[in-house]
Amino acid sequence: MEAIYAQGASLIQMFGRWDLGRVHEAFQEESSRRGLRGVLGVAALGLVYDALLPVQKGLLREISELRLGEMPSDGSVICIAYAFPEHVIDAIAVEAEDGFDMERWSVYAKEYEALNSALDGTAARIAEMVGGFAIPATPVVEEGEIVEAVDYYPLAVSHRVPAEQSGVGWRGRNELVVNSRYGCAIRLASIVTGLPLKRTPPVEEECGDCRACLDACPILDNKERLENYREDCLRYMESLGLDSRVCGKCIKACADSPVFRENRTIPRETAGGVYYTK
Ligand code: SF4
Ligand code: SF4
Repeated sequence: MEAIYAQGASLIQMFGRWDLGRVHEAFQEESSRRGLRGVLGVAALGLVYDALLPVQKGLLREISELRLGEMPSDGSVICIAYAFPEHVIDAIAVEAEDGFDMERWSVYAKEYEALNSALDGTAARIAEMVGGFAIPATPVVEEGEIVEAVDYYPLAVSHRVPAEQSGVGWRGRNELVVNSRYGCAIRLASIVTGLPLKRTPPVEEECGDCRACLDACPILDNKERLENYREDCLRYMESLGLDSRVCGKCIKACADSPVFRENRTIPRETAGGVYYTK
């Protein structure tokens, strides 16, 4: 434990207690190198832990103890996101003569994997800088390990919780994190560190009267009546037969909604203190 605090203290000396500037610089470098646009926020580890499902609390504690020696109560979770390029979102569920243009839709499936990989590389670099560990964009699963949606729960610490608590986005009606600038067309990863970094506050929910995602998906529209709508969502994604278990119709609906239509070309100002890459 003392070693952890000693490591934290020396890192604080290196970075300055509240200075995230070098982390922002590294994130900017990574996103520029990859031709991506990103967002970064910081949440309190203790609050993130409290908000997780019990099975995910156990997982976070286990990894923290393995990687840091303990779960630092005043530590931080850095939430990073990369945005899908617009042409990728436009490729989702494009109607064709006999259904959907699946070749175009697979562009989204490929980019989904590419963003996950970019996030994992970026998160690993930031984790090294802050003496922490990265939680990958999506858990590594063995063939056949995911049969039902609930099988994901013990394998992954939710990125949605730190994303909401750090102001990277609010929880939309489609249950995804909705960023003020990029809507829900983002992928997320997290970095846990013992450093008490300056937090970025949560943002207000801005869905307003919009229900475009609910109109785009009967599963979402009926989520309160279904036993576990994520199960129905998973079955639908599998039925598409794309390279990854993805769909994205609710993401595209959000990007095309009145809330974001204009903002796809006229980005809003930064909300809530999060850091946006250029
Ligand atoms: S991913 Fe597709 S099936 Fe799942 S909630 Fe969104 S629109 Fe519905
Ligand atoms: S489509 Fe509209 S209601 Fe759904 S998450 Fe986006 S802004 Fe919110």
